Amino acid sequence: MSERSYDFLMPSVNFFGPGVIKQIGDRAKMLGMKKPLIVTDKNSVNLKNGAVDQTLASLTEAGVAYVMFDSVEPNPKVRNIQAGKKMYQEENCDSIITVGGGSAHDTGKGIGIILTNGDDITQLAGIETLENPLPPLIAVNTTAGTGSELTRHAVITNEETHLKFVVVSWRNIPLVSFNDPTLELDIPDAITASTGMDAFVQAVEPYVSTDHNPITDSQCIQAIKLVEESLRQAYANGHDLDARTKMVEAEMLAGMAFNNANLGYVHAMAHQLGGQYDAPHGECCALLLPYVEQWNLIACPDRFADLARFMGQNTDGLPTREAAELAIEAMQQLSSDVGIPASIKAIGAKPEDFELMAENALKDGNALSNPRKGTKEDIVKIFQAAYDGD
Ligand code: NAD
Repeated sequence: MSERSYDFLMPSVNFFGPGVIKQIGDRAKMLGMKKPLIVTDKNSVNLKNGAVDQTLASLTEAGVAYVMFDSVEPNPKVRNIQAGKKMYQEENCDSIITVGGGSAHDTGKGIGIILTNGDDITQLAGIETLENPLPPLIAVNTTAGTGSELTRHAVITNEETHLKFVVVSWRNIPLVSFNDPTLELDIPDAITASTGMDAFVQAVEPYVSTDHNPITDSQCIQAIKLVEESLRQAYANGHDLDARTKMVEAEMLAGMAFNNANLGYVHAMAHQLGGQYDAPHGECCALLLPYVEQWNLIACPDRFADLARFMGQNTDGLPTREAAELAIEAMQQLSSDVGIPASIKAIGAKPEDFELMAENALKDGNALSNPRKGTKEDIVKIFQAAYDGD
């Protein structure tokens, strides 16, 4: 019998399905929220009858006051968190509601972190560094990508060093989250593609991670199947509610999987691209995925052969190695079908940055659970392959 012990982190409650957003006012009231800080970005505020409008309407109906903080930037920065904390304190808020994608949720988590755990969030990077609970936090999720509405991660960019860092703690998991697929019908194609590929990578990496277990495996398998059957459709027709719903289910499953089995070099390296070039996180992951996994393949070819089957490839009668190679081809095909470019040149990557980014990627916590262990030179070669596009 194998010896295995692990903790398994799950959100306490997630409200899922078309129309659930209408319940947020009552839920905020049940949690005792009197004056939440709404943490969101300007684009989300401008969406007519979008998640922000519907959240505010429901809060007003339930008699819950609120204060708006709409200065979240993509790849949220330390300055966003500091500005949010200032407003929270000046307005005497007592709780936080994040509305948007991963950037809004991570900013809200960051604000909560520095309100109760010390002002310098850069000092709190790492695993289980938080001693005190955050203020009550509800996450209203509007992208089928990061899973941040139910994960223990807060990914923040230090704008001075251009480094992304992660605060990983069970205290970061929102008390309540909402996933209403009707909020996602108007997401532009490029964002559907990049966020959807993020969800996909967050199912692939935990499946081949050294920390995987039977529970996370089952989440990854179902997430990969759902992405395979719905991402292209959601990209081709954003108003396909069935495809949008399946993508939300996929991102939730993937979020739960990596909350527990962790990730790998794709994320460790994508954080360097995101920090250095301020590029969309999901696109960074998608651009790196086939190159990292081609390199990883020899560590666990049987797991990659499984991935090929979950992605609908016919592996009957093939030797394991050949079946595994089909997984890489299927990943490339999925990326290309949803318009992801073939090279990291598309986000402005420069070879002269690879050495420093490789060094920092190996320090990223996500590197720990990658199935194959590499040197700085190995990582530089992977960046170069993703640059050359071959
Ligand atoms: P995002 O939150 O940065 O949003 C991208 C854009 O999409 C924004 O302009 C936003 O306004 C727009 N948008 C969001 N929802 C929309 C909707 N329903 N309709 C129309 N437009 C909409 O994107 P993201 O990919 O969700 O989040 C990326 C961030 O999350 C990165 O910083 C990444 O590092 C981080 N991340 C966090 C975790 C975690 O567990 N905490 C995991 C993975 C990634």
